[in-house]
Amino acid sequence: MTSILNADLHCHSVVSDGTLTPEDLAARAAANGVELWSLTDHDEIGGQERAAAAAKANGLKYLTGTEISVTFANETVHIVGLGFDPHDAAMRQGLYDTRGGRGKRAEEMSEGLARAGIHGAYEGALKFVGNPELISRTHFARFLVEGGWCRDTSEVFRKYLTEGKPGYVPHRWASLKDAIHWIHDAGGVAVIAHPGRYRFTANEEYALFLEFKTHGGRAIEVVTGSHTTAEYQEYADKALEFGFAASRGSDFHSPGESHCDLGQLPWLPGTLQPVWELLEHRIQ
Ligand code: AMP
Ligand code: MN
Ligand code: MN
Ligand code: MN
Repeated sequence: MTSILNADLHCHSVVSDGTLTPEDLAARAAANGVELWSLTDHDEIGGQERAAAAAKANGLKYLTGTEISVTFANETVHIVGLGFDPHDAAMRQGLYDTRGGRGKRAEEMSEGLARAGIHGAYEGALKFVGNPELISRTHFARFLVEGGWCRDTSEVFRKYLTEGKPGYVPHRWASLKDAIHWIHDAGGVAVIAHPGRYRFTANEEYALFLEFKTHGGRAIEVVTGSHTTAEYQEYADKALEFGFAASRGSDFHSPGESHCDLGQLPWLPGTLQPVWELLEHRIQ
């Protein structure tokens, strides 16, 4: 087990805001040399059975996964859950509740965009949605790119979908404590996704790590498509400082949009404990 190097424990399918099916992702992961894979759709585990079956068909080891949206210190933080029982009732209910506000939020985003002269964004975004319970900013971004408003999705986020911009709607997601408990009570491990991406001060990040640990959180992503090379080192040091295991994941969404493909990142630094060592008994 410790021999696994090419684990990719973070990506998205059409069940959330990715553009590939779980089957296509599994085949792509296998082609890229991934040994251990997890599909981590936002706030949703509807793709888990398909992903596990496709992993098996492609000779990949598999861990169940999801990426839960959490509000911490007025900022959205993502908590990846790995290796949980996908049939756990409290976990399923928690994710269902977390998905719940997305429809209304999307309508408000559309109203904001209309005031900025972009009409029909809700209906337009819906055309890109694979799962009606999971309309996300990414689907709006694809609609705006299609309509020629921006060149690519990152420009859409910069100009329209982030705080202070016309299509941004503040939203309350799950609490950090609840998300960790859902994952742990279902037998999984909670992981802070892409910690380098949040706009926290050093004190706020410290508070996040401490509170995460207090509630039973055990790992952080160190090598992720969202981190720079310098951040691999920074968060490797922080994982050691806080006693966290480390995870590795591309956060792949789409061949056309994601700069980081499945299984293509550097290995985890050898000084760190890989999160999959905590989950040997959960690997399928
Ligand atoms: P939501 O859960 O609806 O708030 O959407 C969050 C998703 O938007 C993230 O998971 C990313 O897939 C995407 N996203 C966030 N920021 C950016 C960005 N700057 N550029 C491209 N995609 C982004
Ligand atoms: Mn996403
Ligand atoms: Mn994320
Ligand atoms: Mn993600």
